[in-house]
Amino acid sequence: MSSIREVPDSLKGTEPPYDLLVVGGGINGCGIARDAAGRGARVLLVEQDDLASHTSSASTKLIHGGLRYLEYYEFRLVREALIERERLLKIAPHIIWPMRFVLPHSKMLRPAWLLRTGLFLYDHLCTNMTLPKTRAIDFKKDATGKPLQNQYVRGFEYSDGWVQDSRLVVLNAMDAAQRGAEIYTHTRLTGAKRGPDMWEATIENLSDNSTRVVKARAIVNAAGPWVASLLHDTLHIPSRNNVRLVKGSHIVVPKLFEGSQAYILQNPDKRIVFAIPYEGKFTLIGTTDVPWDQDAGHVEIAPDEIDYLCESVNRYFDKAVRPSDVVWTYAGVRPLYDDNSGNASAVTRDYVLDVDASAAPILSVFGGKITTFRKLAEHAIEKLAPHLSVLKKPEWTADVALPGGDFERSAFQRQVSKLQDFAPHLSSHTAWRLMRNYGTRALQIATRESGDMGENFGADLSRREVDYLLDHEWARTAHDILWRRSKLGLFVSQDDAERLQNYIDHRHTDAHHAVMQDVA
Ligand SMILES: Cc1cc2nc3c(=O)[nH]c(=O)nc-3n(C[C@H](O)[C@H](O)[C@H](O)COP(=O)(O)OP(=O)(O)OC[C@H]3O[C@@H](n4cnc5c(N)ncnc54)[C@H](O)[C@@H]3O)c2cc1C
Repeated sequence: MSSIREVPDSLKGTEPPYDLLVVGGGINGCGIARDAAGRGARVLLVEQDDLASHTSSASTKLIHGGLRYLEYYEFRLVREALIERERLLKIAPHIIWPMRFVLPHSKMLRPAWLLRTGLFLYDHLCTNMTLPKTRAIDFKKDATGKPLQNQYVRGFEYSDGWVQDSRLVVLNAMDAAQRGAEIYTHTRLTGAKRGPDMWEATIENLSDNSTRVVKARAIVNAAGPWVASLLHDTLHIPSRNNVRLVKGSHIVVPKLFEGSQAYILQNPDKRIVFAIPYEGKFTLIGTTDVPWDQDAGHVEIAPDEIDYLCESVNRYFDKAVRPSDVVWTYAGVRPLYDDNSGNASAVTRDYVLDVDASAAPILSVFGGKITTFRKLAEHAIEKLAPHLSVLKKPEWTADVALPGGDFERSAFQRQVSKLQDFAPHLSSHTAWRLMRNYGTRALQIATRESGDMGENFGADLSRREVDYLLDHEWARTAHDILWRRSKLGLFVSQDDAERLQNYIDHRHTDAHHAVMQDVA
């Protein structure tokens, strides 16, 4: 990949039009940019903040069919998601891995026969499932029952997947860039003139408030929670479709239970809450469903959501969780396709792609899941292909690994050993963490000599890793590195975070001086 500091051709003078201007650097925008660039399209993606700043870093991080959607008869969505689960486990085995989910049966809630039927369907809707199937559990005999209260005597255990959501977004952007796409972060689409077959779009660089006009044959509106406002308020295009914004929040507490299994807990209000092993030392608990009509850019957990999540787990585990145990929280807004459901939990999680080709085409993405992003991107390209001949090339993303994911899932531990053979000074924890975050790209970060890894910024974050993230993954601030490219923020002190930010600031200043000297 070329350095992201290089001045792109498009800034050097008159340029040919882009085929596609993608608005939004969440999972859907980056997935579509990757797919289109791989088919030879000239792609520009603009993201107003950092990549994955909004919904795509605030998910429960499940690569799942969505067991509970079966209750709403969402068979198409569940089947597509289960097939995608298998594909994504193959193309990104570093950042996506299988997880077992324990479902305690509660006498007051759904009957056992209903759970068994749902799980049977869940195991069989995807015919090429490679993950272990459902099993019934006697909690008195099985280790998974140990952290649970005595009243829970039986339940089930089934398979799904887990993803580092914001890293999935960045890997899609990296792959798109390797295939020729230009990715501008901190850049907003502020307006566009529509011609019969060409857009003239104004984009603003929010770092220095400079604006520029770019030409594009088509626009993809993957603005997530802003999809409808971008369409109506910025581009003045009428559409029948809309989104329902539903806030969802999570809490992180010190580890509640041993083992690599997660728990799926039924609540009396019929909602479910997950308790998931998180970053080695913690448990992640979520989520909530709260209708949201305020600014989608500033979302925080409310105290009553924290209480609700604590109560949900306290119904099941021996060890009680109090709001004061919470070490971190995050919240995001689901941009759900508005199907006019009365209840926020019942709104469809399926997606709708709306193409307006009455002049230069625009495709808008309503709804979607992290799990289905790849298929959504394929469908988006299929819908645009009649209007953009470059997109007529065959589908290609189903089997092509994302950056660093070019190994078999079963070979993960072997890859960690390989990395340690190459850089024997790495602790087994660091080698494991680098492999989980960067896969085979970890070999670009590690060096043979421990001293060459450079300054340590707390936890096991080295200068080499920081430089890699600044040079190859569009990170710009300590926050980007500690909370989106990684979750090392959970382990790094405030002082270390400030030291990291100082290092980044100096590096930017040095790079700026070097460019100025070259120009002089
Ligand atoms: C609480 C919660 C839990 C979830 N759990 C799961 C789960 O476990 N599994 C799963 O599969 N899915 C899950 N989801 C759903 C999933 O996270 C979302 O469907 C997905 O992240 C949406 O991605 P997106 O790209 O459409 O939106 P976003 O990630 O929000 O990206 C849209 C981007 O567009 C940018 N943008 C907007 N306007 C402009 C503009 N004018 N110019 C430039 N950029 C602009 C925004 O800054 C934003 O970054 C969950 C969602 C939530 C909220």
